Amino acid sequence: MDEILFESKGFRWLFDAIVDALLLVDDEGCILLSNPGAQRLFGYSEAALNGQPVEMLVPLRSRDRHRELHRGFALQPHRRTAGEGLELTALTRDGDELPVEISLSPLEMQGRSYTLAAIHDITVRKGLERDILGRRKEMEALHKHHIAAQTVAAIAHELNQPLLAIASYSKSALLMLEKDNPDLDRMRQAMEGSERQAQRAGQSIREMLDFLNMNDSPSEAFDLDQEIRDVLNVVRMEHDTPLEVALHLEAGLPKVKANRMHVHKVLLNLLHNGIEAVLETPHARPALTVTAHALKKKGMVEVTIEDNGPGIGVETQKRLFDPFFTTKTSGIGMGLAVSRSLTEAHGGQLWVAPREGPGALFHLTLPFAS
Ligand code: ADP
Repeated sequence: MDEILFESKGFRWLFDAIVDALLLVDDEGCILLSNPGAQRLFGYSEAALNGQPVEMLVPLRSRDRHRELHRGFALQPHRRTAGEGLELTALTRDGDELPVEISLSPLEMQGRSYTLAAIHDITVRKGLERDILGRRKEMEALHKHHIAAQTVAAIAHELNQPLLAIASYSKSALLMLEKDNPDLDRMRQAMEGSERQAQRAGQSIREMLDFLNMNDSPSEAFDLDQEIRDVLNVVRMEHDTPLEVALHLEAGLPKVKANRMHVHKVLLNLLHNGIEAVLETPHARPALTVTAHALKKKGMVEVTIEDNGPGIGVETQKRLFDPFFTTKTSGIGMGLAVSRSLTEAHGGQLWVAPREGPGALFHLTLPFAS
């Protein structure tokens, strides 16, 4: 085979018919032939390309890399895989830079090496890849923002209540101090209340840190009826308004297995919500009915909490457990969402009775300890 092959009609017909840009380059890096596809891509005539160093089609800053690739290709015949795509930047006659994919095929003739380079313009593909990458980054940023917003909302929800209570205890202590004969007993009660709330806020922060550290929340067997009584005492201390509570706790209730602090939080949230709903109606006095009984077949204890508030409309019921759903001016809407996930994490369930009211009725179930 000799160089006349390049001049043969059949070779030239095929070479010119291929739509992609083709260059035949000798082992010195000199362009021997270019097809119309190459002339279109680089903006040169056939005469302006043939006989020129192929480096003229490579931007100045990429020429070292190009030379290296060329040397590597010439020195390592086993790496000369035809069709192997190589992404490079090409330089057109107008000075534009194009992302291209190049496939190199070696040709051996009369002891000399030649390279057939097929060059494919990948501007559109690169643009699409950039778009996809950009969109993926946007999605990731949105996702992170969403998680951050949820975390901040959860922290705010946990700390809002104790901070408000500390502020009001401190305010009443300060007012008492201004009197000529301050009532020391009442002042002590206010400061004790403030201290309790500060402990509660601290405990909440510790739990959130534990949660973020993925530490398992320890479950224990405990008496749910005792926990209900404790939570009711806390609620009585926290609300100034007189509270009427009808308590129906089944005798000999089996112990439940869950994280006691989590259950405390869920019950507290349900009771607070009930009281706040009642207080929306002027002159109304909160009256709560709390029951607990065993569902033996299901192996669960069921607690129901009913208030005498306006109840919950059908539309609100659908969104009640969604994060950030709130109808309160200073609400955050995380209470029920967090309560449900805490309950479910312990194998229980939390739902609202499908009725519009008056009075909302929530059901909570937790598994027997054994
Ligand atoms: P938030 O603390 O913002 O109120 P929650 O998740 O605790 O968040 O409650 C979400 C919404 O559910 C409340 O804003 C309220 O509209 C409604 N809701 C919850 N409990 C009751 C209830 N006992 N009676 C009436 N509406 C309630």
